[in-house]
Amino acid sequence: MLETLTYFITIFLVVVIPTVYIYKHTKHTKKAKKRLEDSMKRGLMEPVSLHPKIDPARCISTAACVPKCPEGNILGIVNGRAELVSPTKCIGHGACEAACPVEAISLVFGTERRGVELPHVKENFETNVNGIYIAGELGGMGLIRNAVTQGREAVEYLGTTLSKKYSDVLDVAIVGAGPAGLAASLQAQKDKLKCITLDQDDIGGTILSYPRQKLVMTQPMDIPLYGKVKFREILKEDLLEMWYEIINNTGVEIHTKEKVEAIEKQNGFFKITSSKGEYFAQRVVLAIGRRGTPRKLGVPGEVSSKVAYRLLEPEQYIRKKVLVIGGGDSAVEAAIALSEQKGTVVTLSYRKNTFSRIKEKNEHKIERAMQLDKVHTLFESTVLEVKREKVILTKKDQKYSLENDYVFIFIGGVMPTAFLQNAGISIQKKFGER
Ligand SMILES: Cc1cc2nc3c(=O)[nH]c(=O)nc-3n(C[C@H](O)[C@H](O)[C@H](O)COP(=O)(O)OP(=O)(O)OC[C@H]3O[C@@H](n4cnc5c(N)ncnc54)[C@H](O)[C@@H]3O)c2cc1C
Ligand code: SF4
Repeated sequence: MLETLTYFITIFLVVVIPTVYIYKHTKHTKKAKKRLEDSMKRGLMEPVSLHPKIDPARCISTAACVPKCPEGNILGIVNGRAELVSPTKCIGHGACEAACPVEAISLVFGTERRGVELPHVKENFETNVNGIYIAGELGGMGLIRNAVTQGREAVEYLGTTLSKKYSDVLDVAIVGAGPAGLAASLQAQKDKLKCITLDQDDIGGTILSYPRQKLVMTQPMDIPLYGKVKFREILKEDLLEMWYEIINNTGVEIHTKEKVEAIEKQNGFFKITSSKGEYFAQRVVLAIGRRGTPRKLGVPGEVSSKVAYRLLEPEQYIRKKVLVIGGGDSAVEAAIALSEQKGTVVTLSYRKNTFSRIKEKNEHKIERAMQLDKVHTLFESTVLEVKREKVILTKKDQKYSLENDYVFIFIGGVMPTAFLQNAGISIQKKFGER
């Protein structure tokens, strides 16, 4: 009896466990290879900013880094070493770096081929322009906790440099109401500074553009006037709710839908010119992130309230006629989400003759939606004008008039480089540097 038991245990240890391991490993490797090939085919190989660089000489393919990535499926083992198989999805958590037992991973900005432009920022968050500070992702470090910490610390620091004698100007103007700008605004309120916060869009910054119900991974952080938050995971919607509650309870003043267009020094102060007016402040905190400003079409009627650059709640558009403009993942995902609403008529206008650089999953979905006539796609079309109840387009020199209630534009973003340079801030390009 004992002999039989020993026999089975031995078989289990020597045959079953290694076989299961090899099977799983091979399956994983195949999937990772496929993902990498797909990213290459679609030209999705350049990470946005901070990302892991794997030293092939050090990597011993333990795969310890692979499951640690909170975004999932970004790293994989290919040809016996770790690879970034979905580079554009990496948001720089850095969990992979910490997980690697042989220190084969380092976090770097940009790649050898594509540099990342970073503004010059000192340790106290001040730029080369005395009095202008940068907090959050714009400075290079992504993630919510980093943004909150930097926003808070930048204001704590600049508060010590203010002069009390200028009662007719603001102490500080904060540009951006993402995590960095919100934390900066709360710290300014805590320190009783005269402050204004302006955002071209809405409260929440990049969080607003996360997919619905996204599980946001973060780390405990200290929010001024609120205290420590200890959660490590939270749904996007609950995180936004938390920010709204904090803003309501503290009464922090945030001007949304007000874009800052220029910052210049005038008589010793900063003149901040926005889409709605002018402000004068002793100090400025730029917390504008790295996602840029949505690119505009520049056609008549675009300023109308029926035009948007983000889709938050597709259910709002039940039984409406909507036009989505663009051919990337954001446009395609929006068109698909809208086409799933009851009675919504969706047209997608794209200037090229086929979709390029979109995820395989989206490609399948949009093809299916087109086959089922749920999304009507106008390739090689250009929008000429947005009117109250219609949109005018051309397709192969032919003019179309489309009945329309809402327009969504997803044609990329304009990086804030020129805006920063005009304010005097110097920019450096990093090519894969730590
Ligand atoms: C898909 C995705 C998933 C992510 N998941 C996570 C996660 O799970 N955990 C995590 O920690 N991080 C995550 N991140 C990263 C995180 O969202 C960012 O690092 C963080 O939001 C940066 O905060 P910020 O305040 O610096 O900038 P942002 O959040 O980008 O906010 C910048 C704000 O500035 C405004 N702005 C820009 N220009 C102007 C202007 N000229 N005038 C006025 N306002 C302007 C914008 O409208 C925006 O509201 C994710 C990012 C993405 C894209
Ligand atoms: S840096 Fe982060 S998002 Fe990128 S692969 Fe590592 S754990 Fe994933």
